[in-house]
Amino acid sequence: MTLSFPASRANAYTGSPLDRAGHHREDADWIARAFDGPDTLFAPVWRARSLMRGLESGAPEAVLLGGDAARPLHDLGGPWAFLGLLEQRPVFALDVSHEDNPPIPEDAGAFTDLRQVAGLLPAGEASVLAHARGLMHWRVKHRFCGVCGGRCEPRSAGHAMTCTNCGAQHFPRTDPAVIMLVVRGDRCLLGHNLRFPTPMYSTLAGFVEPGESLEEAVRREVMEEAGIAVGQVVYHSSQPWPFPSSIMLGFHAEGLTEEIHIDREELRDARWFSKRELHEHKELGFGLPRVDSIARRLIEDWLHA
Ligand SMILES: [Zn+2]
Repeated sequence: MTLSFPASRANAYTGSPLDRAGHHREDADWIARAFDGPDTLFAPVWRARSLMRGLESGAPEAVLLGGDAARPLHDLGGPWAFLGLLEQRPVFALDVSHEDNPPIPEDAGAFTDLRQVAGLLPAGEASVLAHARGLMHWRVKHRFCGVCGGRCEPRSAGHAMTCTNCGAQHFPRTDPAVIMLVVRGDRCLLGHNLRFPTPMYSTLAGFVEPGESLEEAVRREVMEEAGIAVGQVVYHSSQPWPFPSSIMLGFHAEGLTEEIHIDREELRDARWFSKRELHEHKELGFGLPRVDSIARRLIEDWLHA
């Protein structure tokens, strides 16, 4: 059987317009000038929320602050990191979580949970906000050294933390998770997770464990959650998921067996669905994952292949 169903379009949180310009990170003078520069833009993060306006109209947009609008936030002295260049303008993430009411301009909108609106934001804007949020989460959670407990100080324009006591270096982490659509003949395997509030069926997923390849993680997760043996595993696409620090690696996988044994700790139900059932899911009374999710892309690219 063929398991190659190419990605029909880009995943959410990809397509950043920023040039990460990593070569500037070790140039402390350049970074200091850029941080105080007149054209510099800031992507503020407040308690894992991102600044955006236009929520009422249903067409939100990311808000980056520059010049006088950014000054009061800049002066709060919170953690920051250089994200890159937007058409030659330096862009920094800036965490203002330590302030109960961060001083933002009246027309700057509100701090909002990116996951609630990502499908509505222009793709590149969602990517920049996700980048800022993920990096600031790491900065705020890694103030102390995991080796000796000493205090850490930022280096590399906010992309590394160095322990002031033992000198250990700490870098932002991204935790890989596999997400897979298991296909057997003209049917695919979907599960109804205990955490889903509505009757929604989605692909299986789970974290990659130490010492495990991605293909092994796919086979283990499908066996653990649904008792289905998996043969061939084919990579499809990936999606940044910095909520707080993952990347979703999407696969199509070949189901070798049919009889489902579900893990009752994880799933309420799992079933094989025909393409017709998925096309008619609304009439049949169940939902599919959000259109901006990689789970939905895996399903649709198989469905329309
Ligand atoms: Zn240390």
